Amino acid sequence: NRDRILHSERLNVVSELAASVSHEIRNPLTVTSGFLQLLNKSKTLTPEEKGYVELSLLELNRAEKIVSDYLSFAKPQSENMVYSNMREESEYTKNIIMPYASIHNVEVQFGFDNTLNKDYDRNQIQQCLINLYKNGIEAMREKGGGTLFIDITESKQNIIISIQDTGIGMTREEISRLGKPYYSTKEEGTGLGMLMAYSAINKVKGNIEVDSEKGKGTTFLITIPT
Ligand code: ADP
Ligand code: MG
Repeated sequence: NRDRILHSERLNVVSELAASVSHEIRNPLTVTSGFLQLLNKSKTLTPEEKGYVELSLLELNRAEKIVSDYLSFAKPQSENMVYSNMREESEYTKNIIMPYASIHNVEVQFGFDNTLNKDYDRNQIQQCLINLYKNGIEAMREKGGGTLFIDITESKQNIIISIQDTGIGMTREEISRLGKPYYSTKEEGTGLGMLMAYSAINKVKGNIEVDSEKGKGTTFLITIPT
């Protein structure tokens, strides 16, 4: 119970922080994207150059979405709400992280049964899954590779997503810090990924269980009621 209170406090702090920085980040994103759109109209661009410009625009768009995701902690974004199958999101996001997995020598095994439908914010769930997959891959990067198991099933009106890695694992103490803003053990880490994941799952009234053994690996078990 105390843990719960702590968690909601953390979520509140981040909402405020996100609101104050997002404006600063959004402006340069908008300006850069505007200039790239202009450049994209140029008649002297080669097809290859045009390809680069279009990719950059897509990436900027994605960055903008991420900013929105961190901002939208407090309010659901109705335009992103769908009644759909979480398997679609898990599979779609798995495909997005495949290149990241392969450069780190990580094999990805994806399995699913029938899964129930549910109303949810598509952007947030995708972001949450990407954050968890990435953490799994990064935990194995330090061991030179491994396997990421993603499984999605249903049981008694619940959707169950299991994300398991064979990475470096965590101690109890480390597990208790998950979701704390800016808690990161990585040099290039933001320490926002887990917070975002907890927040997204919290919003669909689900929960995340963590099972981890130092040196062996970690399993995140997400249960979402339908
Ligand atoms: P970041 O990935 O930017 O460090 P996160 O909020 O995503 O921030 O994760 C916070 C910390 O939790 C990580 O730095 C890492 O120490 C720990 N962690 C998260 N997921 C895993 C995992 N699957 N295996 C081991 N440690 C993990
Ligand atoms: Mg992370």
